[in-house]
Amino acid sequence: MMTTLDAATASALLNSPKHRAGLNDLVLEVTSVSRRHPWLARVSGRVPGLTATDPTAWRHPNIALRLAIPDPSDDLGPLIGQPGLCRRVYTVADVDPDAGTVDIDIVVHGGASPMMRWLDALRPGDRVDFAGPRPHPAPTEAAAAGDPVYLLADGSAYPAASAITRACAVTTVVLAPPDAAERPDPARFADDFPGARILVAGESATPLAAALATLSVPSGATVWAAGEREDIRSLRTRCLGELGLPKKQVQVFGYWRRGKTGTDADIARLTGIARLRERGLELTGDNDFDIEI
Ligand SMILES: Cc1cc2nc3c(=O)[nH]c(=O)nc-3n(C[C@H](O)[C@H](O)[C@H](O)COP(=O)(O)OP(=O)(O)OC[C@H]3O[C@@H](n4cnc5c(N)ncnc54)[C@H](O)[C@@H]3O)c2cc1C
Repeated sequence: MMTTLDAATASALLNSPKHRAGLNDLVLEVTSVSRRHPWLARVSGRVPGLTATDPTAWRHPNIALRLAIPDPSDDLGPLIGQPGLCRRVYTVADVDPDAGTVDIDIVVHGGASPMMRWLDALRPGDRVDFAGPRPHPAPTEAAAAGDPVYLLADGSAYPAASAITRACAVTTVVLAPPDAAERPDPARFADDFPGARILVAGESATPLAAALATLSVPSGATVWAAGEREDIRSLRTRCLGELGLPKKQVQVFGYWRRGKTGTDADIARLTGIARLRERGLELTGDNDFDIEI
């Protein structure tokens, strides 16, 4: 049984055809850095070569990129031949596959993290390597069938929830922005969630789970949620337990974990995948919450 992640295992997993399927290694040339909200920065840029990649991959309503940004102390970088770099996952907030332009929206969470340092110093003309696009689940089938669709998102999932709402019919969006204590007016977010009822969660250690508990969710609804891992774990328990929703109507994802880094999550998941494969199993949305991050 494998106990710690070694370089050979990490490289084999990350370079496997299955992991690399559909991914391109590209560079974002930053053209502007702005603020969409006081807590959400937008990084816009050109991606040379994007127009030569498969355009359908960029039209999926929820896609993410893995940016390689400086971090001299990252533990995973040296294992995968990228010493001095860490990798952080960000949703494509907007993309024009014909023009080859991409926007990503980054929560300014105020910690002294690699992404916050990178963002702070970022200027037009800077370049960053990334791999992508990686498609992530979106409730497109439920929306197309006319079923009620509920999205619950903290700041980190705001770009994904907005992209999904702009791509398909969403009934209700519950947002837990970092400035929830200031009770922001939901109308402030209306342009990003066309056609959806918008609610703002109150302050809580698990704001999305707490907000879900106040909603009456019909049995035919699909719930998509992403945000802080323990908040989402609690929300998932409610969906599958009290609400009794079938698993196919529950699409939930931990995007970050309080007190842990993105690298901690990567190492835990790579270790978990290697262990599962020893037993002939794969990591899925279901067993991801069994992994200790
Ligand atoms: C599929 C996917 C899509 C994502 N899309 C986005 C996106 O579009 N925009 C976005 O902002 N994030 C997104 N995230 C989350 C983002 O990858 C993490 O927040 C990332 O860890 C931030 O990196 P960092 O270097 O700032 O902090 P890290 O070095 O990873 O962590 C340092 C500290 O900061 C804390 N921290 C990390 N993120 C947050 C946060 N959002 N709020 C408060 N504290 C935090 C950690 O708990 C830790 O204590 C996504 C994650 C996934 C898996």
